[in-house]
Amino acid sequence: MASQEWLEKDFYAELGVPQDASKKDIERAYRKLARELHPDHNRAPDAEDRFKGISEAYSVLHDDEQRAEYDQIQLMKSGRGGFGGFGGQGGGVNFDDLFGGGGGAGGFTDLFGDLFGRGTGTSRRRGARRGNDLRTNITLDFTDAVKGTTTELRLHAPSECETCHGMGAKPGTSPSRCLRCNGSGLVTENQGAFSFAQPCPDCEGTGTIVTDPCEDCGGTGAVTKERVITIRVPAGITDGKTVRLAGRGAPGERGGPAGDLLVDVGVRTHSLFARDGDNVTLRLPVSFPEATVGAQIKVPTLDGPVTVKVPAGTPTGRVLRLKGRGVPGKGDLLVTVEVDVPQTLSSEAREALERYAAVAPPVDRSKLEQLTGR
Ligand SMILES: [Zn+2]
Ligand SMILES: [Zn+2]
Repeated sequence: MASQEWLEKDFYAELGVPQDASKKDIERAYRKLARELHPDHNRAPDAEDRFKGISEAYSVLHDDEQRAEYDQIQLMKSGRGGFGGFGGQGGGVNFDDLFGGGGGAGGFTDLFGDLFGRGTGTSRRRGARRGNDLRTNITLDFTDAVKGTTTELRLHAPSECETCHGMGAKPGTSPSRCLRCNGSGLVTENQGAFSFAQPCPDCEGTGTIVTDPCEDCGGTGAVTKERVITIRVPAGITDGKTVRLAGRGAPGERGGPAGDLLVDVGVRTHSLFARDGDNVTLRLPVSFPEATVGAQIKVPTLDGPVTVKVPAGTPTGRVLRLKGRGVPGKGDLLVTVEVDVPQTLSSEAREALERYAAVAPPVDRSKLEQLTGR
């Protein structure tokens, strides 16, 4: 992902190693952190981001050429490098001013964007670059979405070329060091009193040149094939959400980190249950006698049937809460009582109701009568 983002990032701090750390130290630090932070077993909310961070840091720092490039950029940033002491922090010289002043088109960010990010698609001489994000979708059953699930999805998408391991160079060959910039990716140009570091035109700022491209991938480092990806969907996901799988997108080029895989999640509706945030909802029809004198009624939940106590005198619309029967650890099952009104009555039932009506307590409509005047 060699890009202007390198400016802001501290890859050494990310891995917790000093700037003069050996390759071995970097590898050891990365392995240790990767084990700790891997999203498959670390469920801390920031684990995935940090895992992504250390993966990127490692992919840059374990590659000699990329590391040199990164160090160079950091050096320029701190004002000790190609700018002859014009520091960003010290002298009050703004990098954007410095670069943008001339042609008016673009500043520091654009320089690095051109330098690293957007090489021409046809060129064989491409540097490490982050892979594209890929997007796909899955549809989950209602219950799986509430409880969380692990599922597999098939993806026909770019993958790292196994012949060249994504480096783009024919097996047995390796990208050679660019002679013009001696592998730094930058050449220095003098303009009046200042010296400017410029992207090397020969290697497009990458420091290396692929002289023998891999035949299987044409030097891109990627081939399209079918992949099976295991995806862990967190409990409580809702329809329309997107799950991001760091590093599972298209492979990076020439050793750059892979992009992310974005999975848009759809959730099927359920014939009985619905969702209200982390709660699951259910409508419970009861008869007038059950609502009036109370009842024990067996209701389904996502974990099997449970007997619910409908207290005597429960009005229609009352919500009974079954703790812990919603999204695991977060939500409840909300059971809404609905008093059922029969649409047809047997003559026996009608007679019983009429007898009941004769002795039932009257309904209080006094408030309405204030307005209707009886
Ligand atoms: Zn290849
Ligand atoms: Zn060069």
